[in-house]
Amino acid sequence: MKSTTRLVSSSKKIALVAHDHCKSELLRWVKENREALSQHQLFATGTTGNILSRETGLEITSLMSGPMGGDQQLGAMICEKKIDVLIFFWDPLSAVPHDPDVKALLRIAAVWNIPVAINRASARYLITSPLMAEEVSVEVPDYDAYLTERL
Ligand code: PGA
Repeated sequence: MKSTTRLVSSSKKIALVAHDHCKSELLRWVKENREALSQHQLFATGTTGNILSRETGLEITSLMSGPMGGDQQLGAMICEKKIDVLIFFWDPLSAVPHDPDVKALLRIAAVWNIPVAINRASARYLITSPLMAEEVSVEVPDYDAYLTERL
């Protein structure tokens, strides 16, 4: 499929998700980067968002809990271009009941060329990137052109 570009504004829509054993790690990271994160619009799966907003005072839109459909909600938002960055501390050491949803979220983030951080190190690189404070042009699949060519 051909690609097109979409403009991501300097204020990013950031999704925050952590599996249970990783929630304290994400909370620590969010506290350390509170100032930078406060410049952006924050979204999260249910339990993650509730913990983070209670503990940091940041304004966060919380969706459903991950196992109850929150990962799928985030995936849909990525398709609709309503999420620009995904910080997803998924647990590499424990199985989760909603593994298909986790895979689907990571897959759709790859499809739509969404920057994803999966741990503290990658999240640090992302949040300190100068692009976080700039308008950015991102390559995305050009589904409209694909349809036009097919029909
Ligand atoms: P939670 O969901 O924030 O509701 O715990 C996270 C997940 O498991 O994807």
